[in-house]
Formats: sequence, C-alpha cells, structure tokens
Amino acid sequence: MKLKKGDRLVLASHNAGKVKEIAELLLPYGIVVIGAGELGLPEPEENGTTFAENAIIKAKAVALEAKLPALADDSGLCVAALDGAPGIYSARWAGPSKDFPAAMARIEKELAAAKAAEFSAKFVCALALALPDGVFETYIGEVHGRLEFPPRGRNGFGYDPIFVADGMDRTFGEIAPEKKHANSHRSNAFAKFAAAVL
Ligand code: IMP
Repeated sequence: MKLKKGDRLVLASHNAGKVKEIAELLLPYGIVVIGAGELGLPEPEENGTTFAENAIIKAKAVALEAKLPALADDSGLCVAALDGAPGIYSARWAGPSKDFPAAMARIEKELAAAKAAEFSAKFVCALALALPDGVFETYIGEVHGRLEFPPRGRNGFGYDPIFVADGMDRTFGEIAPEKKHANSHRSNAFAKFAAAVL
C-alpha cells in the first residue's frame, strides 16, 4: 500500500493529542490528515485480543464509514512477570478517571504479590492502515526496558514515570520528549509505516 502527496488519510482517533502528533509526523509527506472526530464518526468497541486486532478494528470501521484510507493505533505496557498485563487493558487499568498513579500502584502491588524477581517490561504500539475495500496492513513497534518504583518524573503520560528503557537510567517521565520520541514504541511503529507506505 502506498500513499502519495495530496492523498487524504483519516486518523481513527478521537484523542486530539494523538491526531496532532501523527499529523505533524505526516506533514513532510504532504498527506492531508483528517481526524475521525471532525467527520463525526463514532468510536467502535475495542474487543480484539491483541494490540494489532484492536488497531485493525478501529482502522477498518473508519475506512468503511469515511470511504477513505484510515490509520489507527493501539498501544500499552506489557510486564513480563505479570504475563504481559496490563497489555491491551493498559488504559482500562487507569479507570474512567484516567488515574495512572493508581494503575502504577496496582502494577507494583501485583509484582509484590507474584514475588517477581525481575521487572522487565515493554511498551508496544500497533498501527493499522485500512482501505475502504477492507484491505489492511499493520506495523508493530516495541521498546524494551524495566520498571522502577516509586514513579519518577512529570514528562510524558500514562505509565512513563515507571518505565526505564534499555540503555537508560532515567524514566520516560524524566527524559525530554524528543529523547523519548527518538526511540519509542510509537516512533518505531511509525518508522515501519513510513518505510512501507510513504
Ligand atoms: P490506547 O489509547 O487505547 O492505545 O491506550 C494506550 C494506553 O497505554 C494509554 O492510556 C497508556 O496507559 C498506555 N501507554 C501507551 N503508550 C504509552 C506511552 O508512551 N507512555 C506511557 N503509557 C503509554
């Protein structure tokens, strides 16, 4: 699948921050980015069992409705000693009030309950590009590291204050955003998408 200068692409996200971030990444390629919210499209239920499945569900639903190519993402934190939890439930662990201090405390508590000896973890991002005819492709990015408690730093969002990427000694919450974006699950997935499609 290829997109060319002037092509329109709908971002299947109602999160204004994500739409802005991806629109900026696509700017140099001349792709015209439209947010799904702008088109008044509803958000489909995320009932897949993997990051890729959830991204495909979202991208396909929007491509079909909008009759345009659509890009969706799904991401989260997988903790090895917790069998990959919270995984696709990363946002849901924080509850409707998006209480990430509580979600991070839950991870620490569950690691203690499991008597975990090591805290390795990874962030995963799946991007899915779907065309109105149902054809789709996925691009997966990961960043590996470990968890440290208590949470540190005010940068980033979500679980950033407990995640230390391999080769670093500060959490994603402590480092500058550019440093995180240079090697994050989302930038890695986007680089694969760009190499295949742009
Ligand atoms: P999504 O918006 O449904 O893909 O949910 C992603 C969830 O995973 C977010 O709400 C965060 O909890 C977590 N997450 C994904 N990427 C990151 C990241 O870069 N830093 C911290 N948390 C993240």
